[in-house]
Amino acid sequence: MPIETALNIEFADRLKELPPYLFVEIDKAKRQARAQGRDIIDLGVGDPDTPTFPHIIETMKTAIADPANHRYAFDAGLPALRTEIAVWFKGRFGVDLNPDTEIYPLIGSKEGLAHLPLGIINPKDKVILTDPAYPAYRPTITFAGGKITNLPLKESHGFLPDLKKLAEIKDAKFMYINYPNNPTSATANLEFYKELVALAKEKGIILISDMAYSEIYFDGEKPPSILEVDGAKDIAIEFHSFSKTYNMTGWRIGWACGNPKLVAALAKVKSNFDSGIFQAIQVAGITALRTKPEELNDLRSMYEERRDCLINGLRSLGWKIPPPKAAFYVWGRLPKGFNSSMETAAAFLEKANIVVTPGVGFGPAGEGFVRMTITMPTERLTEAVNRLSKIL
Ligand SMILES: *Cc1c(COP(=O)(O)O)cnc(C)c1O
Repeated sequence: MPIETALNIEFADRLKELPPYLFVEIDKAKRQARAQGRDIIDLGVGDPDTPTFPHIIETMKTAIADPANHRYAFDAGLPALRTEIAVWFKGRFGVDLNPDTEIYPLIGSKEGLAHLPLGIINPKDKVILTDPAYPAYRPTITFAGGKITNLPLKESHGFLPDLKKLAEIKDAKFMYINYPNNPTSATANLEFYKELVALAKEKGIILISDMAYSEIYFDGEKPPSILEVDGAKDIAIEFHSFSKTYNMTGWRIGWACGNPKLVAALAKVKSNFDSGIFQAIQVAGITALRTKPEELNDLRSMYEERRDCLINGLRSLGWKIPPPKAAFYVWGRLPKGFNSSMETAAAFLEKANIVVTPGVGFGPAGEGFVRMTITMPTERLTEAVNRLSKIL
């Protein structure tokens, strides 16, 4: 085709509607710094640095060699996986789930979180998004044609949504909640969930709970599931993930559970997009759910030690951040002398070869904060504190 008649390819309007990706500049600067041979400490990525547990890998080795696992998987996953999830859920939260109607395996929880809105909202429906929030929620609402109403999470409220403010919002279709929270690491207790469920029922708001960090908690305080609240299943669906719990981010496996109608809506959307999880990974997932509690205790102890290392180190520099109770993020107000989260991230990279995530990347209310991860050994965190001591 002559060049003059080549199509002028443009992105679809729905892509153009997405907000600019604020991390692009930071990513570019990070890549440049690495290319220059600088030793970068990346406190930006939320991805476990330790390997998948060996017993899970052993199961995978056998499962991958079995031809039965090489074909299209069932959309709804292996019945044995759904049953194992139900057993795990009962043991962890004391909640009964029907493996056939109330559980649906996912190719990672992000996949399900992103597909569900396509099954439950119509164009112009109002959706409540906490601000700050995990960045994956926003685009999917836009794709489904939903309109976003921000609900700020304030430190004075423990980064929980203010239910009085929520009560004032009219005609919202659904809302995402995420505790333990990314990026703030805040946790929610059962009392809060009870009040939230009561209010959501009164107002007819569907609740989508993202519990990717359910097993990464400290000081022995286990985060509850919203499904522990009586009657929560009438309006709530919860997303769980193997990624952070078993160091399996690359494997892509998670699940949704809760209200059968919401689960069915998600299943129907998915049946048009994908063909299930590679079955060998599902078999390995069953083994993962049977991981001995001691092993997860060791994982939590490791993160707890790192958390204390970073928090105490920063405090010794006069940067006081409350220690997170869960997840692997340290969410700190900007240190003295810094005016914006972007400026702080740029200065840390330029002067200390440290990458942090600017809070504004998680929503306007994230301005004034940076997020730092503890997914690296204490020696590196100590080195980060040493470097920061020269610029703070
Ligand atoms: C990491 C993360 C996820 C995604 O988990 P996958 O199961 O790997 O897709 C979901 N929600 C939050 C808040 C996360 O931080």
